[in-house]
Amino acid sequence: MSRERLFLFDTTLRDGAQTQGVDFSVEDKRQIALALDLLGVDYVEGGWPGANPTDTAFFSERPPLVRARFTAFGMTKRAGRSAANDPGLSAVLDARADAACLVGKTWDFHVDVALEIPRGDNIDGIAESIAAVVKKKREALFDAEHFFDGYKANADYAFACIRAAHEAGARWLVLCDTNGGTMPEDVHRIVAEVKARLPDAAIGIHAHNDTEQAVAVSLAAVRAGARQIQGTLNGLGERCGNANLCALLPTLLLKEPYCSQFETGVTPDQLQQITSLSRLLDEILNRAPSRHAAYVGPSAFAHKGGLHSSAVQKDPRTYEHVPPDRVGNVRRILVSDQAGRSNLMARLTQLGIDLDSKDARLSRLLEDVKQREFLGYAYDGAEASFELLARRALGQVPEYFDVESFRVTVERRHNALGELTTVSEAVVKVKVGGAVFHNVGAGNGPVNALDEALRKDLGKYSSHLSGLRLVDYKVRILTSGTEAVTRVMVESADDKGNRWSTVGVSPNIVDASFEALADSITYKLYSDGAPA
Ligand SMILES: [Zn+2]
Repeated sequence: MSRERLFLFDTTLRDGAQTQGVDFSVEDKRQIALALDLLGVDYVEGGWPGANPTDTAFFSERPPLVRARFTAFGMTKRAGRSAANDPGLSAVLDARADAACLVGKTWDFHVDVALEIPRGDNIDGIAESIAAVVKKKREALFDAEHFFDGYKANADYAFACIRAAHEAGARWLVLCDTNGGTMPEDVHRIVAEVKARLPDAAIGIHAHNDTEQAVAVSLAAVRAGARQIQGTLNGLGERCGNANLCALLPTLLLKEPYCSQFETGVTPDQLQQITSLSRLLDEILNRAPSRHAAYVGPSAFAHKGGLHSSAVQKDPRTYEHVPPDRVGNVRRILVSDQAGRSNLMARLTQLGIDLDSKDARLSRLLEDVKQREFLGYAYDGAEASFELLARRALGQVPEYFDVESFRVTVERRHNALGELTTVSEAVVKVKVGGAVFHNVGAGNGPVNALDEALRKDLGKYSSHLSGLRLVDYKVRILTSGTEAVTRVMVESADDKGNRWSTVGVSPNIVDASFEALADSITYKLYSDGAPA
């Protein structure tokens, strides 16, 4: 049976960036965009070029997406200007993107109160702006803001707005529940009415989560004829968030009637990446994963207590609605280490390490990982440290260098100009083979200075490290066991385009940083095949 294609449009980098406390860097955006592309979403909305320096910088160097359409977001032109004369719209049209998604008003109340322009002018502005996108040979999407509230208030006006976009050449009319308060049954009815009045239009849904129903609203719209869903990873978004793609995608692929009726650009194999993608976003945002998140949360398949866990061990279907591996999550049974063992085996296989499940080294590694996770290490976002841990357990990682001691100072003083400055200096004593190096590094902070000093001279390994740079550094204070400890995550890159993440944990922030930095260098030397 042929299934109808559903399109997925991710707005994490724009709507998600509206979340309180979220501030993506250009690097963060690039990393998320590439991960979304790998997952198989159809559209990655990069943000709003021209609206802020981050988005402008992000669009100036387009991420190398393989299949997703890179989309710029903006507003329909302002009243009283032509489309060609609107700098905001021009920035969107000139962006190096495949598609442009323009948001416009469709609720008469907003046109009267927010825009304060004649209602007809708003419709003309929508048509003119969409036509400008089409003329630029970009795929045009129209985000119909407040469409459901608008439709309830004045159906003919809301409809006239989207019809104008349709007639101007919009490929998609995306109906937005901007305030997030519309019930799924109302969304179903309204989408069906729109579909009946504009049968040849392609309809999308953009739902906010203010009644915890954004996913239900999106699914209701699909049942009524919508064929594009907009949402964000982990439901990120302002106020209560957007429709959560990490819940929507598994439902679309694993649940009836959706899995029989529709296909998406995400294959069952790609769906297995959804848990790690969800965790990646949390790491980037320096947040702990939401334990109870559907499908991807650490507790989504955790079984505690004798009855549940013994039943689950007999047959997981007793307490699980889908097998966790379908979404790349793992079953956690607190009375047995079997789940941890198979998870570990799977991770080793991914690294190309084949171990017999009865190998004693596997048990030791599992104990080590468990103990370290108890202490605060997190390997979901620090693949390089995990690989080193595993390969060290197998005796595969040479000791390239040995740091005998280090000292870091932080000094706050007045400089020659009488300005108050803070400078850091680090001294590292490191042994490479038979040679001992005393390296000194300076920086604006202790970690920076330590990094400088550690890499300054590693003798025969120095050439491997010339292109190494730190691209991100994150600190989290945890309570682990009985004391507060600091976890540092470091992301590194080299001049060949490789990126890797390492982790360090200690009650002392400099010590934790040092551990992550040393792992980063070791990982680089190991993956370069540097001679021991
Ligand atoms: Zn929105």
